[in-house]
Amino acid sequence: MKILKQIGKDDIATVFIADFGNGKLSEFVESVHPPRAKSIKKLVYILSTLYGCPVQCKFCDAGGFYSGKQSAEDIFSQIDYMVKKRFASNKIDVERFKVQFSRMGEPSMNPSVLDVLREFPKRYETPCFIPSLSTIAPNGTEDFFDRLLEIKKEFYDDSFQLQFSIHSTDEKYRNWLMPVNKWSFKAIAEYSKRFYSKGGKKITLNFALDSKTPVNPGDLLKCFDPETFLIKITPINPTHKAYSNKFDSYVNDGNGEYSVLKEFESSGYEVILSVGELEENDIGSNCGQHIVNLLKQNVSDKEYPLLGRVALDVK
Ligand code: SF4
Repeated sequence: MKILKQIGKDDIATVFIADFGNGKLSEFVESVHPPRAKSIKKLVYILSTLYGCPVQCKFCDAGGFYSGKQSAEDIFSQIDYMVKKRFASNKIDVERFKVQFSRMGEPSMNPSVLDVLREFPKRYETPCFIPSLSTIAPNGTEDFFDRLLEIKKEFYDDSFQLQFSIHSTDEKYRNWLMPVNKWSFKAIAEYSKRFYSKGGKKITLNFALDSKTPVNPGDLLKCFDPETFLIKITPINPTHKAYSNKFDSYVNDGNGEYSVLKEFESSGYEVILSVGELEENDIGSNCGQHIVNLLKQNVSDKEYPLLGRVALDVK
C-alpha cells in the first residue's frame, strides 16, 4: 500500500488516500477526540472495505466507481498504517478506540470484513475497543450477517455497534436513494432482535436527511422498538453526487431547531444529532470525494484505467 495523499490535521482528522496496486485506490480516516487536545481520549478509524462501491447511493461519491473487494490484509494495512503513526507497538493506548467499517463500500458485500473482525483481537491490544459496522443491508447478505452475529457473540458482545442506513421511512424513496434490493424494515427488525443484547449498545438507525425526505416516525414504530433502537440524524454531505442530485441537507449545524428530531423524540426514541466539528467535516466526511477529486485532477488512464473512466462520470 502506498499513500498518495493525506489531507487534514493530526490533532483533528486525517484522510489518507492510498494506492493498493493494480490501479486500486482507497481512502481511510483517522479522527481524534476531543479535537486539538493534548491527550487523546478517543481515536476513531474509518475504514474502506471495497474499492469504490457498486450500490451507487444517490448522495455518495464512493458509488461513482467500483473495482472489487478489499482483502483482509488490505483492510489491515489501513489499520496498521494509522496505528504505526502513533504507537510504537500494536498496543493502542487510548481510553476508547473505535473502528468503523463505513468509509468506501458496503461492508456486508465483503466477507473479508469478518476475517478482520475475527483476527483483530489477536493483532492489537487496546483497553476499550468498539467495532462498528454501518450497512444498507442488501439482499443476499444473510450469511454475512449470521456470521457477524457469531463473531459478535464470541469476541465483542456488548461493545459492538451495528448501524442500519434507513434514511427515509418511505419505501419508494429509499429504493431511489439506495438503488439495490434491500432487507425490509421487518427483516432488519427481526435480525436486530437476535443481535441486540440487553445492556449492550442499542442498534442505530441512520438518517442522512434531505429537506424533502419523507419521514414518518409512526411508520418506524411499527417495526423498531425504542428500547432496542436509537436514531442518528446526520447532514447530507456536499459530495459531487449530492450536488448533481440537488440535495439540500435538512440539518446543517448542531444548534438548529429540527422538527423531525422532535417527532422522533416524542415517539420515544433516543435521538443523536451527529453534525461533527465543522473543521473535521471539511477535512474528511465526504466519502469517496477525495478520490474523485484526485482522479479529476491527475487522472492517468494508464495508471487507473477503470477508476478514471467511471469516476469521471460523477459530475
Ligand atoms: S453510501 Fe455506502 S452503500 Fe451507498 S454507495 Fe456509498 S459506500 Fe456504497
